[in-house]
Amino acid sequence: MPPIRIVLCRPSHPGNIGAAARAMKAMGLTDLRLVAPERFPAKEAQWMATNAVDVLESATVYPTLNEAVKDCVAAFALSARPREWSPQVLDVRSAAGRAVEINDKVAFVFGSESAGLTNEEMFACQYLVHIPANPEFSSLNLAQAVQVVAYELRMCVDVAMPFARVEKRATVEDLEGLYAHLEDAATRSGFMEPKSRLRERWRRLFSRVPAFEREEVNILRGLLKALMSRRNGRHEPKE
Ligand code: SAH
Repeated sequence: MPPIRIVLCRPSHPGNIGAAARAMKAMGLTDLRLVAPERFPAKEAQWMATNAVDVLESATVYPTLNEAVKDCVAAFALSARPREWSPQVLDVRSAAGRAVEINDKVAFVFGSESAGLTNEEMFACQYLVHIPANPEFSSLNLAQAVQVVAYELRMCVDVAMPFARVEKRATVEDLEGLYAHLEDAATRSGFMEPKSRLRERWRRLFSRVPAFEREEVNILRGLLKALMSRRNGRHEPKE
């Protein structure tokens, strides 16, 4: 996981701090910071953290949000309520994607159970993040909001992992080769009408593959080649 920090501003129930620590650890996050908690350390926090007491014990306390995030390159404020004036608004999934992309110290900042974040705290952040919810009851429990954020971050990292296998990824040139091959096969077989929009459609289809590998392109091209040679009555030896 990238170095992502969770900051809880003025949490009033210590149990929520413990539950947030547990939510973080289960998703692989460890950096928890507390801004002016009402009561901490506290027994209830330990009870709710269960096996995540290590995250709880390494949590650090700050008097202000600015101090808790001063070394971060970006901060994401979480709010259950839409605000008339705010930094750029993102849903939680896009925010997680942005944070993982940044791949440097970033913070997700949560408000207190009773009043949420102040305007000043929100504007200390560069993004305002919302978790889509029932418009008539949009406020999640603090630790559950932390869980949703941590889960989305986890999903981003796990799903983005295949991108790490950079050397195997298909290049634009590989894909163009595939498109040309498809066009040739579709035309010669009579499947594609002259003015057809098939070209655009298969480009759109393949653009939805998140990490196309060169070998996968080669499988498809090999199949096209075999089908076309069979159709032409030739049986070319396998390459
Ligand atoms: N009563 C507060 C909300 C408290 S919930 C209010 O009206 O603002 C505690 C914190 O959890 C919020 O400050 C926010 O950081 C986070 N949170 C809860 N529900 C959320 C949602 N739907 N979207 C984004 N953040 C949420």
